[in-house]
Amino acid sequence: MTPLAITYDDVAAAQRRLAGIVHRTPALTSRTADAMSGARLYFKAENQQRIGAFKLRGAYNAIAQFTPQQRAGGVVTFSSGNHGQAIALAAQLLGVKAVVVMPHDAAAMKRAATQGYGAEVLGYDRYAQDPEQVLQRIAEERGLTPVPPFDHPHVMAGQGTAALELIEQVGELDLLVTPVGGGGLLSGCATALTGAAPRCAAIGVEPEAGNDGQQSLQRGEIVRIETPKTIADAAQSRNLGRHVFPVLQALGVRIVTASDEQLIEAMKFMAARMKLIVEPTGCLGVAAAFNGALGDIRGLRVGIVLSGGNVDLARFASLVGG
Ligand SMILES: *Cc1c(COP(=O)(O)O)cnc(C)c1O
Repeated sequence: MTPLAITYDDVAAAQRRLAGIVHRTPALTSRTADAMSGARLYFKAENQQRIGAFKLRGAYNAIAQFTPQQRAGGVVTFSSGNHGQAIALAAQLLGVKAVVVMPHDAAAMKRAATQGYGAEVLGYDRYAQDPEQVLQRIAEERGLTPVPPFDHPHVMAGQGTAALELIEQVGELDLLVTPVGGGGLLSGCATALTGAAPRCAAIGVEPEAGNDGQQSLQRGEIVRIETPKTIADAAQSRNLGRHVFPVLQALGVRIVTASDEQLIEAMKFMAARMKLIVEPTGCLGVAAAFNGALGDIRGLRVGIVLSGGNVDLARFASLVGG
């Protein structure tokens, strides 16, 4: 059997690399949320992370391990937004040139922020072009090193530091719940638990409209789908990563779903009760804690990663105001 892409030690090493670079985001609780779910919920507020999402963890962990030659050449990635910003900031912090390939219809705020960190932004059509192919072509043409948003061991290990931190902050958990796009966050966090909280199970939550991850774990192979139409724009990936999938399988991770309506309810709850702006994708775990998808969680200690808060204010208002 080929070894898994990452181990607990990789996540622990990533945490040392990220010390002083990422914020140690708060772990928040809410009596009302506990009453609604029947569990004791600990929210890891990565919506308050630098760049507004957990993605700086993986991006920085990856670029920090570039060879001197790779650093001199620069980094390239594709992203619907948050990973692009994370690569841009991480590259700036490490003095490396960054090119970010982004869908033409990405949120204006995300585009502007990425350029604000000094990265060059190139557009592509997310419904017509395969981002992986676009990325490979630009990388070869310009001598840049690709760092994809999720399917890379250093990215996965970096994202797992969110779980390490949460366990340090609140102690043992019974369950850790994260959103799922390509599964970088989920696979990293599940791996972190193997060393930090071995009795804690990991569950991923993906949009109901794009449950390729759930299907993949059921079938025992990576299932590819068309780009799903959902308000969870940071989880519109079409398939789990090939480094990601074996980790989820080996660690017995489950994936459940939440609908767009449930995401809107969760966003409203976060704003009204917890005074937090969480983007639709960032609410996947919250929605699952409230919609019953996690199963019977009464009495359990459950960690929930609020993965990001990057949503245009006008869009936020239209989503929660209706
Ligand atoms: C990228 C992202 C996700 C999904 O992460 P994966 O590692 O692709 O599964 C979830 N939420 C937010 C806010 C993100 O930016």
